[in-house]
Amino acid sequence: MGKPTDGFPLEPDRAAMQQMGSMVLDMVSDHIAQLTDGPMADLDEPAALKAQTAQPPPAGPGNLGTLLALIEQSAAKGLQIAGPGQLGYFGGGGLYTSALADFLGSALNRYVPMAVGAPALARIELSVVRWLCRLFELPPEAMGILTTGGSMANFSAVVTARAAKLGQELQSGTFYVSEYAHHSLRKAALLAGLPDDALRTVPCTADLRFDVDALRQAIARDRARGRRPFLIVGTAGTTETGTVDPLPKLARLAKEEDLWLHVDAAYGGFFQLTERGRRPLDGIHHADSITVDPHKGLFLPFGCGALVVRDGRQLRAAHHIGATYLDDVERYDGLPNFAEYGPELTRDFRGLRMWLPLHLHGTDAFRSALDEKLDLARHAAAVLAASDGIEVPWAPELAVVLFRYAGSDADNQRSLERVNASNRVFLARSQVQGRTTLRLSVLGHRTHFDRVDEALQLILGARGATRAA
Ligand SMILES: *Cc1c(COP(=O)(O)O)cnc(C)c1O
Repeated sequence: MGKPTDGFPLEPDRAAMQQMGSMVLDMVSDHIAQLTDGPMADLDEPAALKAQTAQPPPAGPGNLGTLLALIEQSAAKGLQIAGPGQLGYFGGGGLYTSALADFLGSALNRYVPMAVGAPALARIELSVVRWLCRLFELPPEAMGILTTGGSMANFSAVVTARAAKLGQELQSGTFYVSEYAHHSLRKAALLAGLPDDALRTVPCTADLRFDVDALRQAIARDRARGRRPFLIVGTAGTTETGTVDPLPKLARLAKEEDLWLHVDAAYGGFFQLTERGRRPLDGIHHADSITVDPHKGLFLPFGCGALVVRDGRQLRAAHHIGATYLDDVERYDGLPNFAEYGPELTRDFRGLRMWLPLHLHGTDAFRSALDEKLDLARHAAAVLAASDGIEVPWAPELAVVLFRYAGSDADNQRSLERVNASNRVFLARSQVQGRTTLRLSVLGHRTHFDRVDEALQLILGARGATRAA
């Protein structure tokens, strides 16, 4: 029986596997325990750490304890995305149960992208995709794929819309996003082979939503010039403002104009699980395709987005290329081959990282956690709006609170820096209607009332921060 310290054969025996595994679990448990009180940012890397993390692999065996210590030290550097004080960026909680599923998926290492490789596991992944389709009330012919994130989901959405509406002739295509849409859509246009000017950015109304009249005019102008509008992208919870575009109006216009409607709900989509969240998302079920990010709204570890498409055949038609060596595995037991629905062939068993937490905790656990985020955002907005020297120009629709200190952009920037210097909470800045606006977003599963309350005290305390402070 080889102990890990005796060197590491490629195939460890049972005792070595268990010993290595328990060392990793110890380290992870310690890491998660210190998230509550750890600093929000630590970018102070000692020279020795810089040198060690740049090393090439050795020819002989290393030492697991030493390597785990190096990983732990490395993980402590940077921005604390997973802790309760993260009120700037979206998500990144990283559910422990999902991390276990990742380990299981890799350790079992079955081939899921072609169903015959592991039909029952493929059915598990399909069950998660179908659950998403039902969540958004899509019809039975809907299908979807799990991606690495929202950007890849938006990419496949643009590719699918392009294939469905433009065919082979891409040069005249145009598509429409609002000024607060995510930049991944611009990237998607580039990667989808569309011309540089295909993306049209349409202004928002005073309440920060897609201006549907301006959109209608932009489409008409493009048609008059001989362009071929093919896609409207509405956002359900924009990254900068948290607002939801007027989805029923966008759906009506898309129908009148025969355009594809994609809804980027990477941030806001999972609020559909809650009763209050469903209201602003009303109309999302009209979409031809929807992006959601389980690594935001379901608190999963980074690396999990999803795209669902109303007519699954269109998703497949846009991504499927037959290959003779795959002929035998075209279909197995009526299960989809996920490889035919996205850009990837071989990949990890992504479905398990969603399936295990959903089956273990139950959907009510997610519903109530998201409800808590809505409560906390409403509480924060009410406290800030009632405070002298602070304005809340827009009520939060989901769980992003926008606010400003009375004073200049520079004053707001200074106050933000003072709050973040506490290292207890991290808030972000948005540029809204040309002005510096501060943003408190509640999305982590570890964020509760105590930390939001602490953030509010820090925000109030930073009123009138001066350069000298
Ligand atoms: C986060 C986000 C994206 C990008 O998702 P990634 O998972 O970071 O690739 C796209 N759209 C919106 C609205 C987002 O909030």
